[in-house]
Amino acid sequence: MNVPDVTGARLVRRTLRMHRPVATAHGRVGDREVLLLCLSDADGNTGWGEAAPLPGFTPETVDEAGQAILDWLADDERIGPPATPTARAAVDGALLHLAARAVGLPLHLHLDPDSPSSFAVSALVAGGTPEGLAAAGRTAVDAGHRTLKAKVGALAFEVDLVRVAALRDAVGPDVAIRLDANGAWDADEVPGHLERLAGLGIEFVEEPVAGVEALAAVRADSPVPIAADESATSPDGVAAVVGAGAADLVVLKPSAVGGIVVAAELAALARDAGLGVVVTSLLDGAVGVSHAAHMASAIGALDPAPGLATSALVAEDVGTPPTLEGGLLVLSGEDGP
Ligand SMILES: [Mg+2]
Repeated sequence: MNVPDVTGARLVRRTLRMHRPVATAHGRVGDREVLLLCLSDADGNTGWGEAAPLPGFTPETVDEAGQAILDWLADDERIGPPATPTARAAVDGALLHLAARAVGLPLHLHLDPDSPSSFAVSALVAGGTPEGLAAAGRTAVDAGHRTLKAKVGALAFEVDLVRVAALRDAVGPDVAIRLDANGAWDADEVPGHLERLAGLGIEFVEEPVAGVEALAAVRADSPVPIAADESATSPDGVAAVVGAGAADLVVLKPSAVGGIVVAAELAALARDAGLGVVVTSLLDGAVGVSHAAHMASAIGALDPAPGLATSALVAEDVGTPPTLEGGLLVLSGEDGP
């Protein structure tokens, strides 16, 4: 990375307020504290980064991330990255954002001059009943989305199967549907589940069962592509998934694994091994989502569609997220803080 000459730094703690708590496999994600790092250069340019630790998904607390950033700032030599992944995401994001602003470019164009300024993203659709999920799917498709993601695994499989069939009926054969079981299914039942889902034309299933070994066993005979998410939340996790042949795709959350630089390296590792890469948010604030989106554009991780349409879940954000227009995420030099 071309490191800009940093002459000033400011670390701010902010509260990210959600419209309502978001149910995940790791509990409900409600309002949480995040850190914004602003780095400046001698010409008055500023670059922002965000650290948004998420309990259950990242190893550190917001206090630990803050300390790691302060330790990095206090080290005049700035040898090596900050000690925790979300702190590293904030620092690397701020450095790259500063470098981009110093040359007057949106971040994605600074990283790759040929990268697109808009791309399709998937929409998360929710509904506990077949009718509810079908209605949510139609709404998302009417808004322009061509890829939908639905959670499964919290209800009995027979119920999920009827829900997903109703969603498929509602949106027709040409819209991609991906499912996320968050590791909830029993290993011995998963092959049967996947056989029955295959007829519904599923793009992939995230984490049908928990753990790299179990994923590898399931994937060997699966008629549906398998994606690793919870098993790939760290660089070691991604390497383990790739090494074990445990998935067809990895879900990469730049904000969780250590930011743009680390995520780009992990994406290359996965792609070199023939795996697809799905870039997603950490339900983080506008700066983190913006950086993940600019990275996805810059490294061309746009198919399958990234899962970056999460800013609508945030009621009080820490900045301006990339705009969503007709199912496309639109990047500029203005999104961010
Ligand atoms: Mg997932």
